[in-house]
Amino acid sequence: MKLPLVALCGRPNVGKSTLFNRLTRSRAALVHDLPGMTRDRSYGRVTCLDEEGQALEVFELVDTGGLDFEGDDVITQGITRMAEAALQEAHVAVLLVDGHDGLTAGDEEIAARLRRMGKPTLLVVNKLDGMKGGAPDGGFYGLGFDAVLAISAAHGAGVPELLEALRTRLPFHRTPEEAEAHDPSDELRFALIGRPNVGKSSLTNRLLGYERSLVSEVAGTTRDTVDTVFHVKDKVFRLIDTAGIRKKGKTHEGAEKLSILKAKQAMARADVSLLLLDAVEGATHQDAVIAGYAQEAGAAVILVVNKWDLVEKDTHTIYGAEEDLRRSLGFLHHAPMIFLSALTGQRVSKLFGMIEQLAAAHAQRVSTGELNRFLRESVAAMSPHAVDGKLPKLYFMTQVGVRPPSFVIKANTDRGLHFSYVRYLENRLREQFGFQGVPLRLSIQKKQ
Ligand code: GDP
Ligand code: GDP
Repeated sequence: MKLPLVALCGRPNVGKSTLFNRLTRSRAALVHDLPGMTRDRSYGRVTCLDEEGQALEVFELVDTGGLDFEGDDVITQGITRMAEAALQEAHVAVLLVDGHDGLTAGDEEIAARLRRMGKPTLLVVNKLDGMKGGAPDGGFYGLGFDAVLAISAAHGAGVPELLEALRTRLPFHRTPEEAEAHDPSDELRFALIGRPNVGKSSLTNRLLGYERSLVSEVAGTTRDTVDTVFHVKDKVFRLIDTAGIRKKGKTHEGAEKLSILKAKQAMARADVSLLLLDAVEGATHQDAVIAGYAQEAGAAVILVVNKWDLVEKDTHTIYGAEEDLRRSLGFLHHAPMIFLSALTGQRVSKLFGMIEQLAAAHAQRVSTGELNRFLRESVAAMSPHAVDGKLPKLYFMTQVGVRPPSFVIKANTDRGLHFSYVRYLENRLREQFGFQGVPLRLSIQKKQ
């Protein structure tokens, strides 16, 4: 089920992001330009269309430039390793060069690296619009790649030819129908959110099984922000990376504010958000703030208590810890909680099943017929308490939305129900239809 992968390489300023955005037509172009945050998408999906505009094939594009930073400190070297890893994985590389500048030493260096790797490479000369005579510099042909194309990423000239050239070089083992079946909605999108230093990068590495995100001893030093698509058995997961907080010029307070903002953005995009908590420090005010946002957003959340290896345990520890944490969070009572260690890997693999289950429950629909039966049975088992001296009569129930599952009950009143009755209905809904762990929305409308 894995999509073919194309890696976009080239030195800075040749137009990689421009081309990436054009090909993926992603929202990346619109992405926030907050200081200290890099663009948060280096991976995107590209859909090739035929003349009628029908989707032919889909591949994944990685902008290795989004993984690469100048400098030579340890962190930078690590990020370059990530670009290298993306390149290893790719089926085809696109080496983008600047036709306006002509061949440079930087281009030659990257070309040599690609040749050493034996990676099938398309040499693509960008900024066709600025080229003398509209043809690429002869020096580019000397790099020794069989295909040389000229495009204008900014204006779109030559881009269809580029797509066609890629299409013929990619291993599509699938029909167009199958390609379309790999809809992003099939992916399980999840995010790791939480304060600096709770272990987001460490857990990312654990989950991916290799160094995809950099771990550092200093709070909030992970600079790259990359979505990662990977497969566990037959399921496609997309990890929405929420790192991306720079060390330089960031106060501790600034980093915390930023992580709240990143958490909100991630929750908006993710099917399931993993809110990391520190087993030693317990839930802090900031954790409670994030939990409050999650509650408001109706997000599906797993409470992940990390660094469990540091806690001295006896058999009652987990129960006590769970109670304490839930009390100090104040929100997300429904959310499942897991105790694990990103460091030792203990219980980490359980997360995949939990994510899958929670995402399914969050997106689940129940028919009106079933809900009406459910409502009748629930009322028969316990009738609603009076509100303002009036006994509510509940007539019908329908589901009006998913993520979170939202229900409307038609009644003889719109004054709402006693909160304990709402809790009662919610619990029954969770039990009967498998909505465990997810937030539910229930509203009462007066029947006209
Ligand atoms: P990256 O650093 O490789 O990601 O490069 P960018 O996509 O940020 O582009 C660098 C600069 O080149 C920007 O100012 C772009 O507007 C410009 N640029 C990109 N593509 C073209 C093009 O096709 N023609 C011209 N004239 N400029 C371009
Ligand atoms: P982030 O800022 O949330 O990405 O946190 P990091 O992944 O960079 O982790 C911060 C620190 O906590 C690092 O020193 C990690 O080695 C450490 N750490 C992360 N997870 C665990 C864990 O499960 N157990 C222990 N003992 N330390 C951990």
